[in-house]
Amino acid sequence: MTPQPLISIDGLRAYYRIGGVDTKAVDDVSFSVEENEILGIVGESGCGKSTLARAILNLVEPPCYIVDGKIMYGGNDLLSLDEERLRKIRWEHLAYIPQSSMYALNPTMRVQDQITDAIKAHSGKSSRERGRNVQGVQELLDIVGLPRRVARMYPHELSGGMRQRVCIAMAIALRPRVLIADEPTTALDVVVQKGVLQALTSVQKMFENSIVLISHNIAVQAEVTDRLAVMYAGRIVEVGDVNDLFEQPLHPYTQGLMASVPSIEEKEISGIAGLPPDLTNPPPGCRFHLRCPMAKKECMVVEPELREIEPGHFVACILYSSK
Ligand code: SF4
Repeated sequence: MTPQPLISIDGLRAYYRIGGVDTKAVDDVSFSVEENEILGIVGESGCGKSTLARAILNLVEPPCYIVDGKIMYGGNDLLSLDEERLRKIRWEHLAYIPQSSMYALNPTMRVQDQITDAIKAHSGKSSRERGRNVQGVQELLDIVGLPRRVARMYPHELSGGMRQRVCIAMAIALRPRVLIADEPTTALDVVVQKGVLQALTSVQKMFENSIVLISHNIAVQAEVTDRLAVMYAGRIVEVGDVNDLFEQPLHPYTQGLMASVPSIEEKEISGIAGLPPDLTNPPPGCRFHLRCPMAKKECMVVEPELREIEPGHFVACILYSSK
């Protein structure tokens, strides 16, 4: 029997409505998160990655709204649950590390108090009441590779990388089955990035959970992910095993991304001529056609669907539509 995905996302659309005009940040996105994997979501700034992360947790706020779609987890569609049931699922099942969360730690509280408060706030119980189901603060710090003395320190006494690891420790305190981390290495130098990525991989190994890693930095994605989903202008254009995508990217946009990878060094994606389209009025046909070196006339009118080209390898491009 084929194993069921942990999360199955189908036809998800999340738009921003400002002044009566919709910006189609996430537009008909379908993919799955499998058990025990690190799935990367990569794409240029503004392609909808962060909106997608929040939409998966049904955490979007006005002016953003969910237009359509299903997010199946544990037999439930997260988009049809009430806030009470969603709150139970968030943190205990699906935890989220928002972008720039390391700047959001409370400057007046020691690390240990912030972690224990987070446990109480999100489970309704203290760590003692929860007994063996919850990790102790010291153990959490061990898992993310921080010295135990950090428990008694304040955020201002920690480096950016240490603060980011504290955020990871807080997010995993209730042993979530899925951890969604939005740009966890942005603004960190290369060595510190590696430490944060190591913390994420040790969490994944220890808990055997799944991680969704959102990052514009494809070199970061290459370091830790098992599968990669490439996003362009609100859509997923290619999904597959990370090694396959690096060795033989099929979608012309993915090929452009791969060609722009220098090394692990933090670097904005470059090397693809032109700019992404305006998502208030995306072009008809393939959204990449204005920048695609392989575009044909047909690409201006036909909207390519995401299709499985080889087992586990999906591409949305007319070049592969007959395969
Ligand atoms: Fe390029 Fe056409 Fe494929 Fe779009 S559908 S990526 S424009 S070849």
